[in-house]
Amino acid sequence: MFRAVIGLEVHLQLSTRTKMFSRCRADYFGEEPNTFTDPLTLGLPGTLPTINREAVELALMFGLALGCDVEGFTQFHRKNYFYPDAPKNYQISQYDRPIARDGHLMVGGRRIGIRRAHLEDDAGKLIHPTYADYSLLDLNRAGMPLIEMVTEPDLGTPEEAREFLHLVRAIAQALGVSDANPEEGKMRCDVNVSLHRPGEPFGTKVEVKNLNSFKSVQRSLEYEIARQTRVLEDGGRVTQDTMGWDEGGQRTFVMRTKEEESDYRYFPEPDLPPLVITPEWVERVRAAMPELPAAKERRLALAGLREADAFTVAYDVELSRFLDEAMTHGADAQKLANWLLGDVTGWLSERGTPLERSRLTPAHLAALVRLVDGAAITGKMAKDLLPEVMEGADPEVLVRERGLAVVTDTAEIEAAVARVVEANPAVVANIRAGNAKAVNALFGQVMRELGGKAKPELVRDLLGARVAVDG
Ligand code: ADP
Ligand code: MG
Repeated sequence: MFRAVIGLEVHLQLSTRTKMFSRCRADYFGEEPNTFTDPLTLGLPGTLPTINREAVELALMFGLALGCDVEGFTQFHRKNYFYPDAPKNYQISQYDRPIARDGHLMVGGRRIGIRRAHLEDDAGKLIHPTYADYSLLDLNRAGMPLIEMVTEPDLGTPEEAREFLHLVRAIAQALGVSDANPEEGKMRCDVNVSLHRPGEPFGTKVEVKNLNSFKSVQRSLEYEIARQTRVLEDGGRVTQDTMGWDEGGQRTFVMRTKEEESDYRYFPEPDLPPLVITPEWVERVRAAMPELPAAKERRLALAGLREADAFTVAYDVELSRFLDEAMTHGADAQKLANWLLGDVTGWLSERGTPLERSRLTPAHLAALVRLVDGAAITGKMAKDLLPEVMEGADPEVLVRERGLAVVTDTAEIEAAVARVVEANPAVVANIRAGNAKAVNALFGQVMRELGGKAKPELVRDLLGARVAVDG
């Protein structure tokens, strides 16, 4: 049997206002190609980079969240390569002095080491139209700030790799460091995977590049593990290749044999000074850090959420934002979570609407929970109202306008009970003769008298008492 060893390299696009080394605006997503450029982005001669302070601080925050060492001396290096998407013919990255190193993240109780996280600028985007004999280039993305995070080879299964990415995304989003959205290319991943027999040294690894969904990370790892297992079982050797992932065919393919580090001719970026990160700067950044998912999880558990629900909500930036706000409206945390993770999520996923774009407000969901909690309406009535509340209706207004509030006025229920008991002497006699089930007929009549809006338990109690007392 072979054991898999997996290491990830994750790229996150930082949520800065401007690009990594120039004041070119960064909010290009969804805009026309090549409209978010400036002389630096285009790599024109004579341009000089300057370091984006916001990018440095976001990287520091991210490093702190992963328990990395972030203080001291950090430096940028040139990584040289010639490719049409890189107008400068080099990338400004970090080499032996990354901004963050030696951190870790707990994944399901296992410690996954973070070797380093460094800052760099992104390349532009090449577009290859189908059947065309040319390619197109969009430089809007060129020069965007990226964090590249490299793990130790500590992950053991494709599921664990996927779970790791899920946690990284949650942390980046909670901190506002990155949208970390694979669909928009704001989170991209390379996976490294090798096989070895337990007790023997690690095997030769293969790298699969540029995976842009969690699913393809998992699938490509599964595919590679199966492929390498076959190679090794047949007595062959795994070659250290750089591979791509064929989404249509659901298989990996060799892109190139691995380039060596020396191919890049790294050298210190002569146009940028080294950057000294002082302890005071680190403390300022730390003080400004929003709550991390792990802390959120503990806080929600203390607020009464079941463990599993606290985890689900805390590691989902939209759910936790929503729940936190709903809780300020004085509704029970677990009951809110039940709605949120149950009927609300169901309604949304049926329509493919994300929570943040639905018309449901935290205040309205809280109101719905309070209405049920205060016995103003039944749980069944609340479920019936939900579709309208999802469309933006205020449940309190609906209940008031439609006179839906259940009758909790004991006197009103007692009066109805008395009327029904009086009108049905035969049924009452039957009950007193020992036929307890006959009470259901009376119960139904009382409910009808009250328009179906009385609290059933209350009606049963009062009816039982009345039949007994008169006997
Ligand atoms: P390279 O020099 O080939 O780039 P690195 O040591 O820099 O390799 O590691 C790159 C990535 O590959 C890291 O995420 C690391 O955890 C992972 N890795 C290293 N060795 C192995 C291995 N034998 N099997 C799987 N992943 C590995
Ligand atoms: Mg490497």
